[in-house]
Amino acid sequence: ADFGFERVTPEEKTSRVYSVFERVAGSYDVMNDAMSLGLHRVWKDVLMERLAPPHGTRLLDVAGGTGDIAYRFLKYLKNLEPPGSEKPSHVTVSDINRAMLDAGRERWSTSHGEWTHPDDTVDWLEANAEQLPVDDESYSAYTIAFGIRNVTDKTKALREAYRVLRPGGRFMCLEFSRVDNRALSWAYDQYSFQVIPALGHVIAGDWHSYRYLVESIRKFPDQETFAGMIRGVGFKGVTYENLTFGVVAIHSGFKV
Ligand code: SAM
Repeated sequence: ADFGFERVTPEEKTSRVYSVFERVAGSYDVMNDAMSLGLHRVWKDVLMERLAPPHGTRLLDVAGGTGDIAYRFLKYLKNLEPPGSEKPSHVTVSDINRAMLDAGRERWSTSHGEWTHPDDTVDWLEANAEQLPVDDESYSAYTIAFGIRNVTDKTKALREAYRVLRPGGRFMCLEFSRVDNRALSWAYDQYSFQVIPALGHVIAGDWHSYRYLVESIRKFPDQETFAGMIRGVGFKGVTYENLTFGVVAIHSGFKV
């Protein structure tokens, strides 16, 4: 596996990714806004609109970090018409990194009452996406946002997604992808390699972690290749949608 420009073992890669997120956990939410100019909020909103979960959904949000997807999930359900949820919904936020989950839990403990339906529940699970401590066919939806590119063995993570979903369950992934416009692609490169590490340095005091994040984006497979990987583990009806000219893409697939 690669890390930066070096070649390292898979174990070493997992452990280096771990320390990157350990270092950035405290400044993660602020950095997300700064680096994406707030766009990550819009992209995550679109992901939830596409998933359009009905009451009674059991969502597993993998690499869930500080809980942005879970937050949108519960908010979406609270605003559903008709509002009554005789079928309670549940979301599990899972992440390999305790520091990220702790940052999320802390943010939530103060505010979640206002935008959560009283019957809907959330739990937090420390887990590697490659090996989820979760029963077979126990969730109706699986999401992973800006997470899969950090996972060392992506196919293994996709197989786990397939395993934990019930038949009829849906897989959705939001991830950086390939920009499909040449002029924009040039500007995006400049921004990524010059501005983002500099922002990392100024806001989080950490140039290298943010340089890693940019490199991991560049190494991630393009839209079609990733769609092929999703089909490869058995998902059907696999599609993707580009957002912001392919800066990010939403991939979707079903277990039948
Ligand atoms: N989904 C959140 C969001 O969109 O704001 C967090 C995204 S953050 C860029 C990536 C997350 O992936 C980090 O919280 C990191 O700890 C987690 N991660 C990295 N490798 C992982 C793995 N193998 N299994 C589970 N989570 C992992």
